[in-house]
Amino acid sequence: MGATETTAKTILRKHKGVDSWFVSSAGMNLYRGCPHNCAYCDGRDERYRVEGVFERDLVVKVNAPELLARELEPRRRRKPSPGGFMLLGGGVGDSYMPIEEHYRVTRRALELLDRFGHAVHILTKSTLVVRDVPLLVKMAREGRALLSMSFSTLDDDVAALFEPGAPPPSARLEILGRLRAEGIPAGIFLMPLIPGVSDSEEAVAAVFERAGALGLEYVIPAGMTLKGGRQRDHFLGVLDRFDPSLRPLYERLYTENRWGAPQGEGARASENRVNRVAAASAIPKRIPAACFPPAMDPRWRARVMLSQMDDMSRLHGLGGRYRELEKVTAALPEGLFMTLDGALDALKKTERDLILALLDGATPPEYSRLLGEGPGLDKGIVG
Ligand code: SF4
Repeated sequence: MGATETTAKTILRKHKGVDSWFVSSAGMNLYRGCPHNCAYCDGRDERYRVEGVFERDLVVKVNAPELLARELEPRRRRKPSPGGFMLLGGGVGDSYMPIEEHYRVTRRALELLDRFGHAVHILTKSTLVVRDVPLLVKMAREGRALLSMSFSTLDDDVAALFEPGAPPPSARLEILGRLRAEGIPAGIFLMPLIPGVSDSEEAVAAVFERAGALGLEYVIPAGMTLKGGRQRDHFLGVLDRFDPSLRPLYERLYTENRWGAPQGEGARASENRVNRVAAASAIPKRIPAACFPPAMDPRWRARVMLSQMDDMSRLHGLGGRYRELEKVTAALPEGLFMTLDGALDALKKTERDLILALLDGATPPEYSRLLGEGPGLDKGIVG
């Protein structure tokens, strides 16, 4: 399978800070279009302007390594980086799609990230990532590498229909086991869970079980979005081949919503089901702080952790003021930590202590408990 070679003007997409799901502060798309051909792929949405047939008309940014070398040059940096991961993956194509074997733009990007001392978070469905294991092992020793595999199901037969161009889930699990054995921190993005296809309690529990057996660091489940237009039409065509009787469920779930999020009772039931299974597992449901890049800015580290705690306190059905504390942390004066105490005076002592501990680089037991084991959790200390 060939690709159209193109030259880009810029390559790095810098975020405003560090996001709490991928712990990334920048990302890049080296390819457009994706032969993995996942039925639910968001990259088909017209908003991304990927022209032609998504799974066939591939585009490679051949000058990406040269651009990246220029953009990573420290002298060009106007303000300090928040120090999150550089995300390789997601978006409009898998960075380890088969043509990467020929073009090696991902490989060269990885080498550059290493050379400039950055941390990388790879999100892929491809087994080709094993090619770069020696380099990832080296980066992981310095806390600068994280590998996530995405799954919508563990069932190879179901995946053959919904992700026909991607390596089967069994092969992806094998790679994850290998990476963990090599000392590379790794986990699962269990997304999207396909309504009526892969979001049953048993199916989700099986993923947590396999992840536990492989010693993975996290499993992050999420539902499916479906935006009207190319993405929805393509997906429903595949769904009809799987089980046409599921159509009415989708008509109810995916009504008009700008973000394509599922709506109504069915969406809540699915979310509750997944949350129940997730809450019963001791595996973290977000990337844990132990996997964050060591050079991450302390304030961003604290903000991401508070944001994760807020997500988890919702998942466990607990109250909590973590979101408010995240806002307080965002508003703290720059740099001078000596002045922090005054800025936190309006808070309760437990809240103040939590923020100070996070800024100090600690991982409070409350954080570990919220991210991991759900059973037996009391109300958060910040309730
Ligand atoms: S691997 Fe990712 S980018 Fe490629 S088709 Fe699947 S969801 Fe889309």
